[in-house]
Amino acid sequence: MSLNRRSFFRRSGLIAASAISAPAFVRAAGDVTATPGEKPRHIIQLVADGMSMATLTCADHLSQHMRNKGLTWIDLYNRREVVSSLMNVRALNSLVTDSAASASAWGSGSRVVNGAVNVLPDGRQLKTLYSLFGEAGWKRGLVTTVEITHATPSGFAINVTSRGSSDDIAKQLFERKIDLMLGGGRDFFDKAKRKDKRDLSGEFAKAGYTVMKTKADLAKAPLDSNWLGTFAGSHLPFTVDHLNTPKAIAEIPTLAEMTEAALRKLEREPHFILQVEGGRVDQGAHLNDAASAFRDQIAFDEALDVCLAFQKRHPDTLLVITTDHGTGNPGLNAAGKEYNLSVPLFQNIPKIRKSLGEMTRQIKGLANFDGESYKGDSPKKGKIVEPGVIADIIHAASGYRPSLKRCTKYHQFLSGKGDALYDLTNNTDYQLGQMLGNYVGIGWTSTNHTSDYVPILATGPGAEKFRGFVQNTDVFRHYTSLAGIDFRNPELPLMAESGPGAAEAEDFEFIA
Ligand SMILES: [Zn+2]
Repeated sequence: MSLNRRSFFRRSGLIAASAISAPAFVRAAGDVTATPGEKPRHIIQLVADGMSMATLTCADHLSQHMRNKGLTWIDLYNRREVVSSLMNVRALNSLVTDSAASASAWGSGSRVVNGAVNVLPDGRQLKTLYSLFGEAGWKRGLVTTVEITHATPSGFAINVTSRGSSDDIAKQLFERKIDLMLGGGRDFFDKAKRKDKRDLSGEFAKAGYTVMKTKADLAKAPLDSNWLGTFAGSHLPFTVDHLNTPKAIAEIPTLAEMTEAALRKLEREPHFILQVEGGRVDQGAHLNDAASAFRDQIAFDEALDVCLAFQKRHPDTLLVITTDHGTGNPGLNAAGKEYNLSVPLFQNIPKIRKSLGEMTRQIKGLANFDGESYKGDSPKKGKIVEPGVIADIIHAASGYRPSLKRCTKYHQFLSGKGDALYDLTNNTDYQLGQMLGNYVGIGWTSTNHTSDYVPILATGPGAEKFRGFVQNTDVFRHYTSLAGIDFRNPELPLMAESGPGAAEAEDFEFIA
């Protein structure tokens, strides 16, 4: 048995307890233990967007296999001073939330309808966490791997009726003078790409911001200016594409690198609040892409390591680690006699060198992957390739050659002639993910969000407030009360889950 296999089984509990060197509760040297009632000077909330519990589990398995160590997130459960709880993340109108409603609950203490950002259905705007903290003299930062205008960062800072109003969100980020922003979404600041042709990047620069486009810019950014760093037109690449593309490694920082830079700058401030989002965990899960979702979760864990190291240097830091909802709810399934195929299948994941999104672009004839599409350029019009070519593309990207029979079935879905019995699986992303499931052992519930209660962990001064079964709206109340801010937004009673009955729900539409 290889070392990797050994440590894989150790985390899985398949080696007898006596072989495990660490007792159940371990205090690592330098652990931060806060006294109840203490107040933080720094608050960092880390969000692995759309992280189903099995995404965390499988990322831990994958980390054991690829890095010979598990996730830090899992290690936190062994630390006595870490508060570990569950959170209800529901939206105002549904048990299932989207990222906008979920982050709005943190950002305003009030639930909104899915798709809205800190605006009630009657049009009333909710005062945001970052407006309140700004007035109280705290510096405010946002770091993400998706567009900086995306729903989760917006939830802390923005008011819009529709999360898709990215141009407007970029304008509000400027007007509200957010001190630090690092992520993707350059197009929404670019006069050539904005509908109103406003040169928002130029306006940021005039207002004294350091405006950055590359990893090199970030390395030399002065610490005494505000920062706007957008490292791609749209989202930053999935980790699996990023780390397999030398040009992307050279030009684009990882989440851990952006977090490290952000903390180097914010370290100088008496008070700051920072959101760090692993935004593509969710997008990988939406695509039913095991390699993308799990490797982005590992990349998120590296950002968590950076934050824990910061907290060690600054014990007056409250860290909150969570997700906003489950997505796709993957699982490593039992396979083979005595389930002995599950692990070898799972261990095919590191052989995959491209996201399923990149494979799909090639299959739809939208791009010959040339190492440039990570920049988020709009694809050209293309023509779907033949089943035999589908097999070639998947094989080149993953080492897996699906049968011609499977590729022909998938081709039918691509041509709009698919035939799945569960409507939410009747789409090309789900079908490609299921086909790859034969290679990596992972199955998915759908390409959508789920209603799962989610884990929330807290450590540092104020962590004790997060004990128990937490409502997403409590997060706002805890942060404001810890900062000595006395403010409450209006709240509406939860809406009944209205809508068509099951009988009329045939062929229902769903939002991503
Ligand atoms: Zn989300």
